[in-house]
Amino acid sequence: MSINPIQFQRGLSLPDFLSQYGTEAQCESALEKVRWRDGFRCPQCGHDHCTVFRRGQQRLYQCSCCHHQTSLRVGTLFQASK
Ligand SMILES: [Zn+2]
Repeated sequence: MSINPIQFQRGLSLPDFLSQYGTEAQCESALEKVRWRDGFRCPQCGHDHCTVFRRGQQRLYQCSCCHHQTSLRVGTLFQASK
């Protein structure tokens, strides 16, 4: 069984946590790295290229092949999060 890198990361103090995840942009970057470790992958067709744009506060990814739009949070426990 492989080791889950999320579950087995070192503990963080609150100041360390805030310095790494204190802004929306930092959270988005961290989630993007975890979600698409090897780069974007379309959940609809599996294509690996997309266009990134913003709608309001949300960063959206549109597949270059099938034009399916997704966000970082869709399909994760953060899906209902604002
Ligand atoms: Zn696609």
